[in-house]
Amino acid sequence: MSPKITSLRSSLLAALILCLALGACDTGEKAADPAGSAEPEAMHQGIEQGQAAADNGLLAEWTGLYGGVPAFDRMELGGLKPALEAGMAEQLAEIDAIAADPAPPTFANTIEALERAGRTLDRVMTYWGIWSSNLSNPEFRDIQQEMAPRLADFRTKITQNAALFERIRAVYEGDEMATLRPDQQRLVWLIYDSFARNGATLEGAAKERYAAINQRLAELQTRFANNVLADEEGYVVYLDETQLAGLPESFVQASAAAAAERGHDGQYAITNTRSSMDPFLTFSDERALREQVWRNYYARGDNGGEHDNNALIAEILVLRDERSELLGYDSFARWQTENRMAKTPERALELMETVWQASVARVHEEVADMQAIADADEAGLTIAPWDYRYYAEKVRRARYALDSDELKQYLQLDMLREAMFFVAGELFDFGFTPLPAGAVPVFHPDVKVWEVTRNSSGDHVGLWYLDPFARQGKRSGAWASGYRGHETFDGERTVLASNNSNFIAGAAGEPVLISWDDATTLFHEFGHALHYLSSNVAYPTLNSGVRDYTEFQSQLLERWLLTDPVIDNYLVHYRSGEPIPDELVARIKTAKTFNQGFSTTEYLASALMDMRYHTIDPAGLDPDVFERETLAELGMPDELPMRHRSPQFGHIFSGESYAAGYYGYLWADVLTADAAEAFAAAPGGYYDQELAHKLVAHLFAVRNAVDPAEAYRAFRGRDADLEALMRDRGFPIPER
Ligand SMILES: [Zn+2]
Repeated sequence: MSPKITSLRSSLLAALILCLALGACDTGEKAADPAGSAEPEAMHQGIEQGQAAADNGLLAEWTGLYGGVPAFDRMELGGLKPALEAGMAEQLAEIDAIAADPAPPTFANTIEALERAGRTLDRVMTYWGIWSSNLSNPEFRDIQQEMAPRLADFRTKITQNAALFERIRAVYEGDEMATLRPDQQRLVWLIYDSFARNGATLEGAAKERYAAINQRLAELQTRFANNVLADEEGYVVYLDETQLAGLPESFVQASAAAAAERGHDGQYAITNTRSSMDPFLTFSDERALREQVWRNYYARGDNGGEHDNNALIAEILVLRDERSELLGYDSFARWQTENRMAKTPERALELMETVWQASVARVHEEVADMQAIADADEAGLTIAPWDYRYYAEKVRRARYALDSDELKQYLQLDMLREAMFFVAGELFDFGFTPLPAGAVPVFHPDVKVWEVTRNSSGDHVGLWYLDPFARQGKRSGAWASGYRGHETFDGERTVLASNNSNFIAGAAGEPVLISWDDATTLFHEFGHALHYLSSNVAYPTLNSGVRDYTEFQSQLLERWLLTDPVIDNYLVHYRSGEPIPDELVARIKTAKTFNQGFSTTEYLASALMDMRYHTIDPAGLDPDVFERETLAELGMPDELPMRHRSPQFGHIFSGESYAAGYYGYLWADVLTADAAEAFAAAPGGYYDQELAHKLVAHLFAVRNAVDPAEAYRAFRGRDADLEALMRDRGFPIPER
């Protein structure tokens, strides 16, 4: 989601929280931010829309039970473009009416009116989200390509409405502010801030320069992404059948298919992407080929010529710095962190630098273990970056061997879903009742719906939609999304939340068995859904997320997968019904700290580089030299590279939401580890009722109605303790 629009309802409620599988979560980062790369284009407000709107089901109010539900059974792609146009036109008219109101600005006629605007577009964007993620096809992608820039332009029109901003400012600075409830004051601030941070306070030449910088940045960031893509497509290594030693059969088959797709029948393609590079480096016995694949991958965007990104980085950093200065900040990082939980670049840096020391020390231990194996094999080599994954895998097999097929037999999809319901009942007081097929419309027969109620009172909370299986046109990975957020200011609206994944449906009557990673991801995404469902906020904007905080709730929920009641009652063998053996559980727990030196260090090197780039004076910067010197100064071990080297660091140079924000994953990890320790130490453990109440009240239900740092203190009685993370990763505690 683009930071520019966090307070505007239409983008807020439609924004998907997308979590890619494999544990790591990139919240909305890829799918969102159409504003970042859009060329403004004139709005088209055809007069024929009035006619089209009358019978366009996508524009209709949601009707039926449960406060009304989306008409997923009547989605007509032909209606999407006119519905978007009508929705945007309606919202702009609403905004204009607010801006032109002759009455003096008040909370009610300005802020609440803004919260009320855009309902129709919200509904249309829900359908857009389904087509985009669950039911995509070429026709939709054509519409998406045409409409994404127009949606971006529409949002810019709102943030640049000077008369509207003057009214918002008047409320923010006026006498009424002090008389408002705390959540209302925060709402005013969130809206004021999102306008002010995005140039609404600028005038004259500064305003023009601001707009010109944004336009140039959008162009540079798009080119950056396209250059990385070009180098991913342009460097493919083709193998013959004598070069496959060590590779798993499934990987060999996928490589053969990838080669055939590229017209190299009978060969095997190692493409220049993480999903190809990572397993190849883990398993291939061919050291020279490992080096070649490694070099291709880590040189993306850094090969000279037309796809080289170094000059783009230098210009992007200079422009971001200039724009931050226009807004009154001494660096881009200060502007970016101000409304996040970390609040300052210094606090984010302090966290990263503390973990860095322990993480690098662990790398040296890991390398020593790997060198010992290489020496014992008489490999005659010194561990190089293209050997790390390969020898780490040998260490893993020797020390932590987990047989994934054995483990799967205890991981049945239906039982895991029941386990999640059990956890939600114990912690959140939620009960889940399946609705009969046809009770509410769904967009595919695979989708099942549950009503969520409060166990203690029987009150209706919302609906939970589950779309579990892979199909053509559905994006990969797993994610959660909200079709409707909770609010009360205009009458109560209940939550419609969903979880989506890509399991392979089993034969009829057979249970679907899934991997440990997938089970963890299932709990993770359910954490996002519980975060939606437990919301008790009054206003739509207060459901919004804070970048370095929104993954915390979902990461925390993963911890309940390994609690005793779940292990004993739900992780049971699909034939015998026997609980998973203690010895297997013990091995899962031990494996958690495996290779933490590598994964933490490669991540932190990128996160530290990100923050350095965005705090220095970038004038005259040579990214290549800067990267090399910074890594040397940090003491980066020779045996591994940054997870994302600068010329390919799309998180921070293809868009802005993660720029000076890549630290956010670690920030959320500290909160997760610290909150998990609170449960581990509570009298009732992970099911301690008093702590569960605090968890729901302070960390879930308030969403963004309370500053996250304050909310965490209300839960824990103090700030999160970094040492909890160190213990969690098996790192020594630093002396203070
Ligand atoms: Zn997530």
